Amino acid sequence: MPAAPEDTIVAIATPPGRGGIGVVRLSGERAIEIASSLIRPSKIPIETHHATLGEFRDPGSGRVLDEVVLTTFRRPRSYTGEDVVEISCHGAPVILAYLVECCLERGARVAEPGEFTLRAFLNGRIDLTQAEAVRDLIESRTIYQARVAAEQMEGSVSARLKPHKQALVELIARLEAGIDFAEDDVPVSSWDEIGRSLDRITADLEPLVAGYEYGRLVHDGLSLAIVGRPNVGKSSLFNRLLNEERAIVTATPGTTRDLVAESAAIGGIPVRLVDTAGIRETIDEAEQIGVRKTLQVIADSDLRLLVIDASEEWTPEDGALLDRVHPLGSLLVAFNKCDLAPGIDADQIGDHLTGTTVVWTSALTGQGVAELKTALLDLAAPARDAAGGTLITNLRHQQLLRECLGALGRARGAARERVHHEMLLLDLYDALRALDAITGATTVEDLLGVIFSTFCVGK
Ligand code: GDP
Repeated sequence: MPAAPEDTIVAIATPPGRGGIGVVRLSGERAIEIASSLIRPSKIPIETHHATLGEFRDPGSGRVLDEVVLTTFRRPRSYTGEDVVEISCHGAPVILAYLVECCLERGARVAEPGEFTLRAFLNGRIDLTQAEAVRDLIESRTIYQARVAAEQMEGSVSARLKPHKQALVELIARLEAGIDFAEDDVPVSSWDEIGRSLDRITADLEPLVAGYEYGRLVHDGLSLAIVGRPNVGKSSLFNRLLNEERAIVTATPGTTRDLVAESAAIGGIPVRLVDTAGIRETIDEAEQIGVRKTLQVIADSDLRLLVIDASEEWTPEDGALLDRVHPLGSLLVAFNKCDLAPGIDADQIGDHLTGTTVVWTSALTGQGVAELKTALLDLAAPARDAAGGTLITNLRHQQLLRECLGALGRARGAARERVHHEMLLLDLYDALRALDAITGATTVEDLLGVIFSTFCVGK
């Protein structure tokens, strides 16, 4: 990871391949000089924050290679805080690569992955939570994920933590002053005051940590294994959840042989649906391998959905499946084909299903599918409404918040025992350090490499 951003960096900012437009981005002291030596703009001088039409000419022959649009952002009002030029060419990979090559010949350097955002951070344009949110926004798979990332990109996490950091700093300052100027008349906080301060901060940070359970789902998505005996409507329900025809639906039992995995968005959360071939007792060795594989996938999934054909009587096979799947973790049961005359006696099998949520569905008519989706989310993230407000979606933030709460807890204990202020301060500093590390206010060099290396080039 480069240390000082005094050199000018360049990269193709658009994804590889052909397209209508491809963008080459330059950032650094010489960005404007390098761009204007290669592009003949139709309007001079080039104004900041304006798009100017221009021609990219081959420096050797002087021949026009492409018609481009030049957008210049003079420092400090740019993404990186440095002079930035974005050159929109036609999306021809050879043109883009050649333009980059020409920039390199003029002294620019190829940008490392994430380096534009790193510079924005180093130049104080954004903090760490915002930089991480840029990556999350780029990687979002649902609009909901994008919305959460966009809020964080605007600084929602830092804004939420700021008052608590301030409260901690104030508390620390008061205690330090009390120690340093013990003989003077500095007002000293009472133990009660200290305790109340700590309780306030703790009470406000705890819901953030609790909300991570849901935040993780928003960020990572979840996997759902669909289980049931043949012909109960697994594939049909799977397709209903996907809202499209992916798995092959057939009326012959046991034909959905392979595990089919597809992603759907349920309540804005990406859900990986795994349709299983059904765990059938069989003597066929090849199928036994399949059965083992299926069981493993079912166990590895975040949630399990057992589909029962409600138009038929409860069979021993349904019972055997339930017994096998129940111990593996969170389970939901769908009584499918509820559009047909019921064959199942729900009361009679009630005992088997205690503790599991049952939803009546019809994959044919779509009845109950919305309820099924809600039940899935309830099961995966019971606290999702409580989370409200700022959502923590990042594991790093979650771990640091836990550290902070741990230190606050220790400080609370120390305050209760009325230990020497110097001891209490150690815990308060620990708590502050954890909060600082989230936004990047303290030394975080070791983190930077990890965070920015997961970016793609040109970001
Ligand atoms: P799978 O073997 O469990 O994957 O079952 P399929 O999804 O292939 O469905 C088996 C048969 O049941 C097909 O003919 C479906 O059209 C039918 N089916 C599935 N769900 C329903 C439902 O809710 N109502 C009715 N009436 N038929 C259904």
